[in-house]
Amino acid sequence: MNRTVLLAAPRSFCAGVERAIETVERLLDAPDREGPIYVRKQIVHNSHVVTGLAARGAIFVDELDEVPTDSTVVLAAHGVSPAVREQARARRLTVIDATCPLVTKVHTEARRFADRGDTVVLIGHAEHEEVEGTYGEAPEATVIIDTPAEAAALRVPDESRVSYLTQTTLSIEEAEATITALRQRFPQLREPPSADICYASTNRQHAVETVAARSDVFLVIGSENSSNSKRMVEVARRQGIPAYLIDDAARIRTEWIESAQVIGLSAGASAPSVLVDAVIEELRRRGPITVEEIVTATENISFAAPSALRRRS
Ligand code: SF4
Repeated sequence: MNRTVLLAAPRSFCAGVERAIETVERLLDAPDREGPIYVRKQIVHNSHVVTGLAARGAIFVDELDEVPTDSTVVLAAHGVSPAVREQARARRLTVIDATCPLVTKVHTEARRFADRGDTVVLIGHAEHEEVEGTYGEAPEATVIIDTPAEAAALRVPDESRVSYLTQTTLSIEEAEATITALRQRFPQLREPPSADICYASTNRQHAVETVAARSDVFLVIGSENSSNSKRMVEVARRQGIPAYLIDDAARIRTEWIESAQVIGLSAGASAPSVLVDAVIEELRRRGPITVEEIVTATENISFAAPSALRRRS
């Protein structure tokens, strides 16, 4: 059987992930580098990226107390709370901040909304590093919710002073349902000036939705801790087909694809495109395929390197 592989585009790295990885690479390759380069948390949520940078010398740590004083540390793309920056200052660390500018935008909004006296409702997954960081901007004024039911049940000190923010990588459809419930609960709800779900999450979800509608099964390349990749799997499943998150080509199971005539394929914003090429090769190894790309948006966004890195070069 000659199968069709429908490649969703955009897919794979977003501008924030490119910037974060390049930041670590430039520090590792700097001719005047003194000492190791530490990275707090996974620089982006992808096991292959982290393994690759570790092989080149980056030292990944969970918390800053594992970093020797006076060392250089990179903060990951998901952002950190002010408490982490304070800890870095206390340890005299040289900080290179690779927080995605679109995450920084949400942090700025959190501070501004809290400063004007609002309860800030942060829609997102409480255990995710990005949400931990945003929450840390104004913990006394912020509540985290994840579902419309939580929105409907929310109690706040002043119902006329409520604003909301979202994690950048949420499902557009699920976030909209929660925002609708919030608007019903708090008719004077104040909105962020522009959507917090980022362009990359939005574009990848739309592409998956379009391709999944024409597919028998869908594969999303990404790691288990990648929020945007998991949301892409959910989007495909909402089209009524089975969908699977795979770290790489080795994770493909025959029973998932053996009866599929059309296989949809995409990769989360933190998954390298070489993994997509490897999955296509693996599918080809299992039988003849025709690859067709479905482009639903084009992206030409790039972010300048972190200012501390620009000053060093
Ligand atoms: Fe930034 Fe969005 Fe990429 Fe996250 S997924 S790094 S918020 S562009």
